[in-house]
Amino acid sequence: MPAPQTPSPASAAAPLLCVVIPVFNEQPVLPELLDRLQRTLNSLAGMRWEVVFVDDGSRDRTAEMLAAASAQEPRLRLVRLSRNFGHQPALTAGLAQAGLADAVVTMDADLQDPPELIPELVAAWQGGAEVVLAVRRSRQDAGLRRVGFDVFHRWFQRLSDFKIEANTGTFGLLARPAVAAINALEERHRFFPGLRAWVGFKQAEVVYDRQERAAGTPAQTLRRLVRYALDGIFSFSYFPLRLTTYLGLFIAGCGFAVGTFFVVRRLLGLEVAFTGFTTLVTLILFLGGVQLIGIGVLGEYLGRIYDEAKRRPLYVVREPTAR
Ligand code: UDP
Ligand code: MG
Repeated sequence: MPAPQTPSPASAAAPLLCVVIPVFNEQPVLPELLDRLQRTLNSLAGMRWEVVFVDDGSRDRTAEMLAAASAQEPRLRLVRLSRNFGHQPALTAGLAQAGLADAVVTMDADLQDPPELIPELVAAWQGGAEVVLAVRRSRQDAGLRRVGFDVFHRWFQRLSDFKIEANTGTFGLLARPAVAAINALEERHRFFPGLRAWVGFKQAEVVYDRQERAAGTPAQTLRRLVRYALDGIFSFSYFPLRLTTYLGLFIAGCGFAVGTFFVVRRLLGLEVAFTGFTTLVTLILFLGGVQLIGIGVLGEYLGRIYDEAKRRPLYVVREPTAR
């Protein structure tokens, strides 16, 4: 395929902006997304642009629609994965395709991340920032999802071993060196906001109001979001391990104190067995529970080590795209 043609006034030497969008069953929002995206990108002066859509094994007509759009406008590229791998692997697949771009915008397809913010992200990049975070001033989610997001963001700040900006998600811009750094990270359980914070570089923030999903239902189920949150915590914090250590120390301390108390009473010839069954049952269940939790925490890390050790690829591309 020939190199993407750019309309004047952008010359061939103009910097290339690549927008990476993972898509899973987004058929209802696609027409509006394509329209708003192209309109915004065409309004960017002095930039060449392309969009990499990663179809994450959609079961509706998403892939067909994107293929048709791509046939009409070669700057809209499509990468199809062989099945549904999930948001993070799809995003990773897209970033891997964006190596030639000078700047990469990462965003969701559902228009919760408004394409109209892209010029502001680009302006921050042109102003010298290498990583631009789109920070949500507000979000529209309601109910359990909202409570979950709030609790996660509040606590994650305290748990992670270094600062990961609250109220940021996928949406943002990465300059080429930051893209290369993230692409070089090989870990399997990926938590993009964490990786983006980890690679460092000069950061800037652009504030926006997170929109309601334009159509359709969230492709990320609550279960997946919980798993994603756990990935964030276990990949970027030893706190759960430390917590079990502290808990163990605390219980051992209590045991020692209680033990001493009874031994001393015994030595003094005082009454010892003044409670019976209830105390024992409570203690056994409590200690058994605490131990199982400890093993569970270990298991979370162990499972992740196992996944890393297997070194399976994160995703499989169905058909390579020409560029
Ligand atoms: N997505 C994906 N694979 C999945 C689930 C979601 O590529 O298995 C895409 C989805 O199409 C959207 C983005 O990831 O572009 C975020 O998904 P969603 O809006 O469902 O997540 P939320 O807004 O709840 O974080
Ligand atoms: Mg969404």
